[in-house]
Amino acid sequence: MTAQLIDGKLIAQQVREEVAAAVAKRTAAGKTKPTLATVLVGDRPDSAAYVTSKGKACQELGMGSVSEHLPADATQEQVEALVRKLNANKGISGILVQLPMPSHIDEERVLSLINIEKDVDGFSPLNIGRLAQKGREPLFVPCTPYGCIYLLEKSGVKIEGANAVVLGRSNIVGMPAALLLIGKNATVTVCHSRTKDLPGTVRQADIVIAAIGRTEMVRGDWVKPGAAVIDVGINAVPDATKKSGQRLVGDVNFAEAKEVAGFITPVPGGVGPMTIAMLMKNTFRAAEIQNP
Ligand code: NDP
Repeated sequence: MTAQLIDGKLIAQQVREEVAAAVAKRTAAGKTKPTLATVLVGDRPDSAAYVTSKGKACQELGMGSVSEHLPADATQEQVEALVRKLNANKGISGILVQLPMPSHIDEERVLSLINIEKDVDGFSPLNIGRLAQKGREPLFVPCTPYGCIYLLEKSGVKIEGANAVVLGRSNIVGMPAALLLIGKNATVTVCHSRTKDLPGTVRQADIVIAAIGRTEMVRGDWVKPGAAVIDVGINAVPDATKKSGQRLVGDVNFAEAKEVAGFITPVPGGVGPMTIAMLMKNTFRAAEIQNP
């Protein structure tokens, strides 16, 4: 059996086109242009690359972008003052604080400060709290798990009643992914580094979301035949045939798992492109909430 490939690149492109059309309609009606502010503290090259690509995506979709950069030795007070300034700025629809920040910065305090109506990453405790409560809706769903669920739904995978296993319990991927699946009436098991029988647990799953950051750890014989496998992991492995000397692989052994699964996302080209697409969707939504 060969799994159906879930083409994240294509689905992300469709999301981006929908957002671009909605932005054009909104601005043509004379309403404010959705605008994303990114906050980068320090000089991590990966973080700098991420904020650049988020700003570029905004421009491609007709949205505004503002990039704020503080030095690595910025104080907690300086970072908090910047977030307060962006909260107060009516021209900014969404605020994205790029993580991780330097270790002397209390990230939770900074994220807690973001106005819930501008929290396009969905990481503020208020948004996560609403996600966790029955009958409550968050204003924004964290982008990567939002993308995972969107890929499942677009591919016609039935979530209601499914046994779902989420590998990883981080605040940004695993935990919100599990909450979203519960909200959609799946029965969810969350695994982490102390889980005793990972292969046996994964074998029960109709849906697997792997977000552990461990190179190709999920093997083909862990996967239940016909299961939907969403691979969030991004791991670099040496590859002498590539100019960069490396290539990216997921947390799932794709070659093995695709022979067993019903649906599978590749790495790259699966969940990765969805994250920015969902951020664009959230930024548009932020503008709509603030200036309907
Ligand atoms: P974290 O390091 O924050 O969390 C990893 C989670 O996996 C933890 O809950 C940890 O358990 C668990 N874990 C680690 N090792 C094992 C193991 N051997 N067995 C079982 N569980 C394990 O990672 P993130 O959630 O931030 O990211 C996960 C992966 O997703 C990474 O590869 C990252 O690069 C990628 N990613 C991709 C994105 C995209 O856009 N495609 C966006 C964000 C992340 P414990 O809690 O016990 O420590």
